[in-house]
Amino acid sequence: MATSEKIQIMEKIVSLAKRRGFVFQGSEIYGGLNGTWDLGPLGTLLAKNIKEEWWKAIVQKRDDVLGLDSTILHHPKVWEASGHIKNFTDPLIECKNCHSRIRADHLPQDSKCLTCGKKDFTKAKDFNLMFKTSLGSTEEDAEVVYLRPETAQGIFINFDNVMQSSRVKLPFGIAQIGKGFRNEITTGNFLFRVREFEMLELEYFVKPGTEKKAHEYWQKERLNWFLNLGIKKENIKLVQLLKEDLAHYSKGTAEIWYDWPFMGFGELEGIASRGDYDLKQHMKTSGKDLTYFDEDDKDKYLPYVIEPSVGVGRAFLAFLIDSYTEEEIKGEARTVLKFNPKLAPIKVSVLPLVKDEKLQIIAKDIYKDLKENWFVTYDETSSIGRRYRRSDEIGTPFCITVDFDSLEDNSVTIRERDSMKQKRVSVTELSEYLRVKLS
Ligand code: ATP
Repeated sequence: MATSEKIQIMEKIVSLAKRRGFVFQGSEIYGGLNGTWDLGPLGTLLAKNIKEEWWKAIVQKRDDVLGLDSTILHHPKVWEASGHIKNFTDPLIECKNCHSRIRADHLPQDSKCLTCGKKDFTKAKDFNLMFKTSLGSTEEDAEVVYLRPETAQGIFINFDNVMQSSRVKLPFGIAQIGKGFRNEITTGNFLFRVREFEMLELEYFVKPGTEKKAHEYWQKERLNWFLNLGIKKENIKLVQLLKEDLAHYSKGTAEIWYDWPFMGFGELEGIASRGDYDLKQHMKTSGKDLTYFDEDDKDKYLPYVIEPSVGVGRAFLAFLIDSYTEEEIKGEARTVLKFNPKLAPIKVSVLPLVKDEKLQIIAKDIYKDLKENWFVTYDETSSIGRRYRRSDEIGTPFCITVDFDSLEDNSVTIRERDSMKQKRVSVTELSEYLRVKLS
């Protein structure tokens, strides 16, 4: 696909996302706040489903990973120990003509300023991405604290608490979902680079010497998670980072890249091998023993850690783009979000064929019944064809139509979103039919 076509598709996706209530610009009525986006009713559901699928795969279905929910604010020493105060920086340059601020490593060599076209920049300086705020009620005794730029440190500082309270043995992981904040120099590309975002992070602790195998294992697991939830094979790949591109803590990082319409292949998720860097730093700075006693080997050591880390918004964007489909059906355009049913915000739409009281009563009963288990909508406005298209556009996998035959045979028509095939199903078997199809 040509670049201009990809940009056009992206514009359509952004517009659909707003029109149907997936994503709104943050603080829109005040002209917007740069690098922030709000999730609308459908976006909230999509994000919730992504988080649930991640939690299920990483925590619920496994015996070796435990959950955590740490605070956003940590003791300032945490960031000193982790190296973030010193190293969590991006190189910032400023255009001397128009004063635009640009991330130097995002500007191709010999480029001109993207705002004014001049080529006269200041020297690059380190810009720390952490948001500062203060703790305490008076100016004098206020202490500088930071909004966490990642959830990982909350896990490391609770490593011993989890180990002692849950009596776990290596290898084991601690997983956490929560907000992260980064004062990015430049934001953009919709949800791709923002300043406030939710993160899905796992710290998987292993015995030193086994980290390579664990790193390879998690790369496969995470790639398969995206593939199993419907990302097309040709749009996603694993990439090993070069040594010079590694973060300050990393002993090796793989990334899952997605083929973004606005930039081509780029990072969707990072899977870093962090060694014992973080635990060692926290042990040194806090003075608390964070070593693990290996009962089998009668040995004491600091575990190494593998960290798969992905932003909910970036995953959201990949699933949204990947599912977006334009088709022509009998000369008519149809836009469909072909979400995996597990991710689809609304699972079923219940539609009386026409506004007839007898049909409405049955449809509303079915609607109420299904709502016990799933997010379901009821829609009786406009023609049935238009209602089908409306539910296709938000990725609803099934439409249930109640027609006049339903009054006789106690059955309804189920229409499947992608194939548009229709099937008669008895009302008594409806829940079970959907349970199988949606799981
Ligand atoms: P970059 O080098 O592109 O700034 P990073 O390597 O610093 O990114 P990580 O620290 O590896 O990013 O973050 C882990 C994951 O969090 C990323 O793979 C991405 O999914 C998500 N993420 C990071 N920064 C942002 C952001 N500003 N907006 C949205 N998601 C983000």
